[in-house]
Amino acid sequence: MCVVFGKKHVPEKSLLKPNSENKSSGLQNITSFLKRDSVSEPLDKISDVVPECKHEHDASKTRGKSVQLVQKVQQSDDLIIKPLLDYNDGVLFYPILSEIGESPDNVSYLDGLVDDGVLDKQIYEKLIVCPIHPKMFSSSMRLYCPKCQSMNVQKLNLFEHKKCGYITESVNFAFSADANSMCPSCQKEITNFEKEIRVPAMWYQCDDCREKFDNATIKLHCRKYGHDFDPNSGQFITTYSYTLKHSETSINCDVAQIKDEIVNLLNGFNFNAEINYPVKGRTGNIHEIPIYAKSNISDASILIFIKNQADGIDESVMNSILVPKLDIGSENTLLITVSSVKDGIARLAQHYGIFLISEPDFSKILSKVEDFVSNWYTKNGGNK
Ligand SMILES: [Zn+2]
Ligand SMILES: [Zn+2]
Ligand SMILES: [Zn+2]
Repeated sequence: MCVVFGKKHVPEKSLLKPNSENKSSGLQNITSFLKRDSVSEPLDKISDVVPECKHEHDASKTRGKSVQLVQKVQQSDDLIIKPLLDYNDGVLFYPILSEIGESPDNVSYLDGLVDDGVLDKQIYEKLIVCPIHPKMFSSSMRLYCPKCQSMNVQKLNLFEHKKCGYITESVNFAFSADANSMCPSCQKEITNFEKEIRVPAMWYQCDDCREKFDNATIKLHCRKYGHDFDPNSGQFITTYSYTLKHSETSINCDVAQIKDEIVNLLNGFNFNAEINYPVKGRTGNIHEIPIYAKSNISDASILIFIKNQADGIDESVMNSILVPKLDIGSENTLLITVSSVKDGIARLAQHYGIFLISEPDFSKILSKVEDFVSNWYTKNGGNK
């Protein structure tokens, strides 16, 4: 639906200014992907707008998952799909995949989205895996005594109290980083471990054979099959993380799509709804309203604002809505967001009579808008 409105790759604010050129191929890619998805499941009511083909059902189910995935990434803190390692089973998995009902180790599903132009792929890390069992990702490092091969090895430091020059082994006195540690030599208090203590030497000691050595023998342990291997004999495996290809684009597409579907919904309730519609307030100022709906049978109007903000809807967003709302004086104002809302915002919205819909999910947003409009109808004695 971005294609319909021809939105640019720009932050949400600038959606207020319609712009009919600028269609990039990447944009169309993700748009068609989002667009086809939207008609697949929850929107039976308005599915006559875009007819759905039955034989496409499986494909659109997959796209439904992908849209969910995009939304979940958009709401995550770091906007990255990262792998986790299950050390017991030795497998790599992407927890976000389970959240959308996909198998958590289905890397080819993610790679498919890279091919579709939805995701970008980056190297996350290089793992050294067992040369005999390269499918097992969980190898961990083990230290051994080079003399007796015992694992009963400990790491030792020398600590030096800079002020008095007292030097001790860490086993004897830890110069604990906790406050109020006293130097055993000069009896002065150590308040800042980092600044007051130097670490002049570090070595290992084997508790079985008492050997002291600078370098422990390092082996990698194949956890699943319980054997060690030399790090140099291991294979290198690259793991990948994924990010949204056009995170701004996709959120803008989402917005454009939500707008489109809400307009259809409102028109079905005997409203005349317009996108980015200029409305004159009582002060004479013109406010461009993301969705403005005027009843065909009464004087009622509905203002709908759509705002998304990565770190959550805050008071400044609310203020930007209050100004046009109060100036236009509409009874019915909705704020729709896929973002979270900060503390106190829900109360603020309620105080000013703004109906707040904060939902990550398209279909839930639509059904809440529908609830709102049909409640309004019931209250105002209208019939659909
Ligand atoms: Zn192995
Ligand atoms: Zn030893
Ligand atoms: Zn001292």
